[in-house]
Amino acid sequence: MAEIYKNFINGEWVNSKSGETFENRNPANWNEIVGIFPRSAAEDVNLAVQSAGKAFNEWRLVPAPQRGEIMKKAGDIMVERKEEIARLMTREMGKVIAETRGDMQEGIDTAYYAFGEGRRLFGHTVPSELMNKFNMTMRMPIGVAGVISPWNFPMAIPTWKIFPALLTGNTVVFKPASDTPATATKLVEIFLEAGVPPQAINLVHGTGNSVGIPIVEHPDIDLISFTGSSAVGKIISQKAGKDLKRISLELGGKNAQIVMDDANLHLALEGVLWGAFGTTGQRCTATSRLILHEKIHDKFLDMLAERVSRLKLGNGLDESVDVGPVINAPAREKIHGYVEIGRKEGAALLVGGEYAEEGDLKKGFFYKPTIFSGVTPNMRIAREEIFGPVLSVIKVKDFDEAVQVINGVIYGLSSSIYTQDVNRAYRAIRDIQAGITYINGPTIGAECHMPFGGVKETGNGHREGGWTVFEFFSEIKTVYVDFSGKLQRAQIDNR
Ligand code: NAD
Repeated sequence: MAEIYKNFINGEWVNSKSGETFENRNPANWNEIVGIFPRSAAEDVNLAVQSAGKAFNEWRLVPAPQRGEIMKKAGDIMVERKEEIARLMTREMGKVIAETRGDMQEGIDTAYYAFGEGRRLFGHTVPSELMNKFNMTMRMPIGVAGVISPWNFPMAIPTWKIFPALLTGNTVVFKPASDTPATATKLVEIFLEAGVPPQAINLVHGTGNSVGIPIVEHPDIDLISFTGSSAVGKIISQKAGKDLKRISLELGGKNAQIVMDDANLHLALEGVLWGAFGTTGQRCTATSRLILHEKIHDKFLDMLAERVSRLKLGNGLDESVDVGPVINAPAREKIHGYVEIGRKEGAALLVGGEYAEEGDLKKGFFYKPTIFSGVTPNMRIAREEIFGPVLSVIKVKDFDEAVQVINGVIYGLSSSIYTQDVNRAYRAIRDIQAGITYINGPTIGAECHMPFGGVKETGNGHREGGWTVFEFFSEIKTVYVDFSGKLQRAQIDNR
């Protein structure tokens, strides 16, 4: 029997007002129903926003170190439940168990980072230009945060948003992706058990159109934190922008790894295997392009093709599996559509390029890890986000051409270069247009205490993670205290 899940609104676990539901199935075995969830709409969102609005007035007054202690308790519960939730996550979205454990760990790290930040949330004290006057800044909560998340990091990404939102004194209306509502529900259970006031955290399940848009357009939602595709990010930006809402957008990528002629090729090989085929290529930071120096191009490609053809596909709960399924049938069709485009554009299909349907694989949505060589920078497979296990290999003659190619896309999230030349490494850091650059590491591997985000169409300039996310979720208040006992006019009386 499939488990029945609910929304969490106004301190209670409830069905959607309409009573409608949707199913969540395992992409490795479509016959397995992971859970049944409420299909919600604007009326459910309204109740959730009302609840969060009421709770804000009390939660904002709880001292930040005390809020931090609740975040610490949430982290402790996540440690206890790590394995159980990692297994559920693999069942609902397919990535292999080592990676869903990592996804849980990122949530735990984020909880403990928020705990520490509760005793920081620094402002500045700054000398006044006038006698007997004191200047400082403080960080203030903003109000009700709308949190909209994608399915590929079902625990980590919501924690990146909700821990800093709550820690800084905001309350939350959370809409997880409809492909990963079960993990999201576990996170809300954890916040409640840790002691977050029940009305301060609200969970509304459903689609982008029926729940996401009402959140974005609701007049009492003060800020939106969104992670997902650039196409949806643009819609949100327009809708929320007209009310001047504060919006953080973390969007798509077309990340590349450069391998120079002096690179340690074995290291670069491990890097690209992990970067391109980890999470079945469905990471915003996935290595989607491989830029090879012409001197090592043929040798490296042989090494890579041999390893890729040996990757084991299967159900991610099997510890020996390297690559899980893709998230659903439309995603697999889209990936295969790009493979067809690559063929028509004249790229050479080296390995993969088809559905994987041997034995039990036919129960799910598996796609063979795929490499195209002979790709040129103007091809669509070199420019557009595919979000699947497809790697486009581009040959270049030198470092300058590599940088030109890496920068020649509309996205700018992650980037990587393998080289032993320290001068080149620093030039790459300076010249690559991306929010993140790895030297001698793959394009994936974010740590929770470092800013995360991208340039160009990957976002709108905000960063998640690190100290920067606490800036997004709080407003600066500038305070002047005049203890002179008289009117002092800045710029006038002291001249
Ligand atoms: P998506 O944009 O389809 O959906 C993301 C979320 O937005 C989901 O919860 C969805 O229901 C909701 N949504 C959809 N349409 C909406 C609308 N019109 N209004 C409001 N909400 C709406 O993305 P996805 O398929 O879940 O995730 C994959 C995408 O996310 C990729 O493009 C990937 O690069 C990106 N991503 C980016 C980052 C990052 O930090 N930059 C991290 C992970 C994923």
